[in-house]
Amino acid sequence: MIQAKGIAAHSAKTPLSPYSFERRDPKEHDVVIDIKFCGICHSDIHQARDEWGGSVFPMVPGHEIAGVVRSIGSKVTKYKIGDHVGVGCFVDSCRTCEHCQQELNQYCLEGNTATYNSVERDGKTRTQGGYSNVIVTDENYVLRIPPSIPLDHAAPLLCAGITLYSPLMHWKAEPGKKVAIMGLGGLGHMGVKIAKALGAEVTVLSHSEKKREDALKMGAHHFLSTHDKTVFQKYANTFDLIINTVSSADIEMHHYFGLLKLDATLVSVGAPDKPLSISPFPLIMMRRNYAGSVIGSIKETQEMLDFCAKHNITPEIEVIAPEQVNKAYERVLKSDVRYRFVMDMGKL
Ligand code: NAP
Ligand code: ZN
Repeated sequence: MIQAKGIAAHSAKTPLSPYSFERRDPKEHDVVIDIKFCGICHSDIHQARDEWGGSVFPMVPGHEIAGVVRSIGSKVTKYKIGDHVGVGCFVDSCRTCEHCQQELNQYCLEGNTATYNSVERDGKTRTQGGYSNVIVTDENYVLRIPPSIPLDHAAPLLCAGITLYSPLMHWKAEPGKKVAIMGLGGLGHMGVKIAKALGAEVTVLSHSEKKREDALKMGAHHFLSTHDKTVFQKYANTFDLIINTVSSADIEMHHYFGLLKLDATLVSVGAPDKPLSISPFPLIMMRRNYAGSVIGSIKETQEMLDFCAKHNITPEIEVIAPEQVNKAYERVLKSDVRYRFVMDMGKL
């Protein structure tokens, strides 16, 4: 076994604290990765606090993992020692169902194996995530980080980046399309940058005025504070696509549906702990669509990394030491992150 150090949630109600545990010895197709940086996603907070239910402790969160290959199993062909690699939100899937066969393994019909708070396909071993110094992952679920993206900036792409790239591609953000992003946090700010690079006209819908300047600097064409409710009348029937990244259920969805054009779509990627309250009327009246989307496939995640390298897209990050994780969680909850915390796991 490989000795690992990490930071774990030991219960839903206590702060995260240091934790020692073991990773498996590499199997034939495994890559052992020295983790250099790990992003803090709001999903980590939801799960560390058991807001979605089903959390098992101790839990080492973290699914925005960037590092360097330490060693490889005997049959690994995709990576060699020293390569810059990443691990995102899942580390395995059934590989045989219709969706896995179609390179849609994020939608594995048997359920993919999440990077943490999940069980390996042996049905026994629990997975532990990237708030750690080392991880062992099958080469087929490892991503190659392009040389032009520094590892600290690469980390948030593994979840925040792909979670926006996938719906923006699927619903065709492109020149001539008006795209709005709800919530300018870790996910939202990647949405702005990627949608802009795809050629769409991008609007940020934020719940205060505070982030206006940042949003415009990031490349958004327009910024609307939804604190001012008149925007919902002024911009009714405007957008071709809206992506909702808001982490809270405390939003009046009917207002946002009203911003969509005829036949247009609002996609929720934000995953609040409570159900959203939805009236069907604004959907009915303009034949609008409401949809959801989860991360992206391994193939698409690689595509996204290469796209970001090509278009010089990197997240706005604040690098912190792992011991600051609890303070960082509090700041994320107050929407006081500009725009992703990334932990330097070398300081563990
Ligand atoms: P984050 O950095 O905390 O960003 C969330 C943003 O939501 C905030 O910055 C804020 O933006 C807005 N917001 C927060 N509270 C609000 C409120 N009460 N009313 C209105 N707006 C509010 O979180 P994140 O890491 O981007 O994650 C966002 C959500 O996506 C989380 O629920 C997470 O679990 C989920 N997620 C889903 C997937 C997926 O595959 N579907 C993947 C990763 C994460 P403004 O200040 O601009 O309003
Ligand atoms: Zn995430």
